[in-house]
This record gives sequence, structure tokens and C-alpha cells, in this order.
Amino acid sequence: MSVYKLANLIRARFPMIYVTTFEEDRVTKYIKSVVTDEKQVKYPREVFTWAQTTGLYNNTTDKKITDTDAPCKALDFIRKYDKDAVFILYDFHTNFGVKNRQPDYNVIRKIRDIVPDLKLGTVRKTIFFVSPELLIPESLQKEITIYDFPLPTLEEIKNKFNSMIQQNARVANELNEEEKDKLCKAALGLTLQEAESAFALAMVNDGKINISDLSVILEEKVQVIKKTGILEFIRSDYSINDIGGLDNLKNWLLKRNNSWSEKAKKYCIPAPKGVLVTGIPGCGKSLTAKAMSTIWQLPLLKLDFGKVFSGLVGSSEENMRRALATAEAVAPSILWIDEIEKGLSGLGSNGDSGVSSRIFGQFLTWMQEKESPVFVIATANNINSLPPELLRKGRFDEIFFVDLPTLDERKEIFKLHLERRLKDKNVASEIVTVPNLCEELAKMTEGFIGSEIEQVVVSSLCDAFFENRPLRFDDLAKNIQTTVPLSTTQREQILAIRAWANVRAVSATKKSNLDKYAKVIDDNNVSSSRGGRTLDF
Ligand code: ATP
Repeated sequence: MSVYKLANLIRARFPMIYVTTFEEDRVTKYIKSVVTDEKQVKYPREVFTWAQTTGLYNNTTDKKITDTDAPCKALDFIRKYDKDAVFILYDFHTNFGVKNRQPDYNVIRKIRDIVPDLKLGTVRKTIFFVSPELLIPESLQKEITIYDFPLPTLEEIKNKFNSMIQQNARVANELNEEEKDKLCKAALGLTLQEAESAFALAMVNDGKINISDLSVILEEKVQVIKKTGILEFIRSDYSINDIGGLDNLKNWLLKRNNSWSEKAKKYCIPAPKGVLVTGIPGCGKSLTAKAMSTIWQLPLLKLDFGKVFSGLVGSSEENMRRALATAEAVAPSILWIDEIEKGLSGLGSNGDSGVSSRIFGQFLTWMQEKESPVFVIATANNINSLPPELLRKGRFDEIFFVDLPTLDERKEIFKLHLERRLKDKNVASEIVTVPNLCEELAKMTEGFIGSEIEQVVVSSLCDAFFENRPLRFDDLAKNIQTTVPLSTTQREQILAIRAWANVRAVSATKKSNLDKYAKVIDDNNVSSSRGGRTLDF
């Protein structure tokens, strides 16, 4: 992937540049602006465009070049052309072999024949391949450079919005500058055309545009991001108060809030890269990712690593590239990679001809070099399949381990789930009279994970509902007794994860809480050891 400026690639006589985008118009305008600017490229070039349906067209002289519809004929013309020029070829990848269509070896050979001329000829010529899909035949891989064309900036989106407002005088604009900014920011991550459609939808709704249209834009964005098939836009209303315990992890996150602000720059704080949260299933890892988006007030994008590799949608490399580009376009943002180990299970095996290793490498490089404020939260249950490169110091800012909740944490989790559901006075009438209710329940649930505690509350309420009466302590006690906790059925696995975490991770639970916990543990129980180094943030 190229990290160089487009003008530099052109000046350095890179023969062929591949741009993957749906935005033909925008990229064409951009290439034109670069290659016709003396300051950028020194020798301005003419601009030709080509599509199978139209043949070559000289945009500089406004002339169609006859008999160039066929790819080979277009390439012949390019080879013979004797003035400095760039040739933007749309959808040329179809000649490189797409579904149900073999590669056209004549075309590929002809391209290879042109390369020396493009590199060393006296006339400066560059070919651009512009396609929504990235597809480069093996034999051309050394000659073609991939150029990452970013999604529109806030500035570009604002310009589009302003021109739409001007063109649609009948639409009442009820936005002040701050609100307009918010609306345009909400459209980040969309192509210019998608942003235009979202704004148009917001305008035609009721003939006016105001801040209540934010939901229309966000809904459009949710749909567009969903279409990628790999990313999901998560709307979360969980707050920090919805997480019981895990104080150490929560403090760490709270301290890094606003790390990208101007104020933080004064303290020379490096922008946080991300955290890896590992641990026992059902103990609040996903909950933390969702709450983080609310705490930091940043959009949360969930990346399904498994789908990147599955080949169900597009090529794996392209999927990854697009997902990371979208996360960057909506930055500052949080990229949540749930169950990261699942996506990495193919690493090291020969079954996928190295695709997994390439994608993983692509991801690590991005993590290392990313400059845009995208914070990564990766969650993992099965730490055995995590490759050591991912855990190397400096990759993530911190690796946290979420263990079985301590007594105090269980007390908090019970309190949270009971309070959330006991809103009706009649349903709550009996249970509220029980002294030290949550403490008692916490004592009875040693070894329970958060989701099991939640399930105890839900099942007990179902029992009470079925009998049309208030919730009773006995309902909770009975459901606790009938639950066989994961810590019993998966004792060995939990002990193994802890041993791993002791060396590599920091406990998500606060140290003071663990000290108290140590006094109540029973040596024969799975709770007698804890995972993760104790270090308070
Ligand atoms: P998995 O890896 O299996 O997805 P997880 O660690 O991500 O597990 P969550 O999905 O966050 O677990 O938790 C499942 C549910 O259990 C949550 O929606 C929440 O209701 C409850 N829960 C778990 N841990 C906590 C906690 N610490 N505080 C409050 N609720 C919790």
C-alpha cells in the first residue's frame, strides 16, 4: 500500500497506479487537479479517461478517440501517444479475470510490453486503473502500485452540503454553524455520493433540514457500513455505570478520555492505540467496548475478523483495507474487533496460501503506523490462538485480563441487573425488604460469571411473572442453586487462561478489591487463584 503522495508517484515515473474506489468522479477530479498543477508535478499532463462503453476520451482537448473501445486498441493508442499524459482506465480489472471470466492474456501481455516505455520513454505517461475492486494479476504485481484514495474529508462533505443547500432554495435551512458541523461529521465514512443521498433524504422528508435530521444521516451510515458485510456500526447506550466491577480497566479508559483533544497535546500525550481485553467469557468484555463508545462519545465500529477471511464478501485484502479506511474516515472512532482469535485461526497453516498471514501483517502494520485517531479494542476468549506478534510490547497500550468477578463485583452486578429490571413497585415490593440483599446473593454465587448472574435475575423474574406475584428472595436462591457455572464445567480452561494472564496481562479488577477477595477464597475452589498482574490505574 502506498503511503506516498500521488504527485510524487507520478513524478517518480511509477508506470501504473491502481486506485480502488467507487468514486470515479471524485478520484478523476483529484488526479486531474494533481497532474495539471505545475507546482505538484512540474510538467503538467493531458488527461484521458477510458471505459469499455466509451473508449478513450481526451479530457484536455475534449475529443473522443475513435476505435479505442477494445482494451487492446486503447493500449496501442497509449503506447503510441507522444505527449505527456495520464490515462485513467475505469473497471479495467475485468480483463484481469473476474468471476466467470478468464483473464485476457493478450491484454496483460500488452500492458507488460508498455511498461518499459512508461518508465523510461522520453514522454511522461502514467496509467491509472480505477475500479471498485482490487484485482491485480500476479504477472503485473511488481509494476502496479496501489494508491489509497481516502474517503471524503469533513471539508469536502461540508462543501457538498453547502452546494446542495444553495441549489435547493425551497428547502428551509434551520441549522446553525455548530449543528451543520455535527450533521456533516455524522456523514464521515460515506462516499461523497452516499453523503449526498443521505442529505437529500433528510431534506425531502419534510422540506426542511435541522438537527433532528441527524438520525436520518446516522441511519444511512449504519446501512452503508452494514453493506460492507464486515463492519457494523454499533449504537450503544451503555454507560460506565452499567459495568459492575472491572474498576482498573474502567479507570484506565476514563483517564484516556479526550486524549486526542487540543488540551491533551499540551501534555504531549501520545494518542492511545488500543487495548486487548482477554478473559473468561461472559464477564463484560463486550459490555466494556460498548460502554467505551458512550464514555468517550465516539462512534463504535465492530469489525468481524472472521468475515474478512471468509471470502464471502470480496477479496480478503481488499475487505481489510476497506474496513480500516472506513474506520479512519469516521475518526476519531473506536474499532472493536470481537473475538480476534477467531479471525487469526488460519495463521501458520498452509491451507489458505498465506492469506491469513498477509492480512494479519496488514493489520499489524496499520496498528503500528496509523496516524488517524482510531482506537482499537480487541476482545479475545481463547488466548492460546493469539500469535505472539500481536502481544508484543508496543502493539497495544495495555493487555487486560477479565477474571471471574470478585465478591464485591458480583454484588455490584446483582445490584445493576436488579435495579435495571425492578422498576415496578409491585414487582419489587417483597425483595426490597430483604436486608443486605446483593451481599447475600454475591456470597451465594462464588464462581459465577456476569452473564450467569444476569440470567439468574432474568429467570427469577420469569418465575414470578408466571405466577403473577412479586419477586422473592427464594426465586433468586433457587435459580442460583440450579445453575452449574462455567467455572465448574470449564475449570481447567479457566486455570490455563489465568496462568497465561499472570505473565502477560494486567488484572481488570482493582487491587484493593482483590486483596479483600483473597480473604474469602477457599483453597480448593477455582476462585482460589486469580489471573493477571495487579496494578492499579
Ligand atoms: P463473550 O466473550 O462470551 O462475548 P463477554 O466477556 O464479552 O463474553 P459480555 O457480552 O460483555 O461478555 O457479557 C454478557 C452479558 O452479561 C452482558 O450483556 C451483561 O448483561 C452481563 N455482564 C457480564 N459482565 C458484567 C459486568 N461486569 N457488569 C454488568 N453486567 C455484566
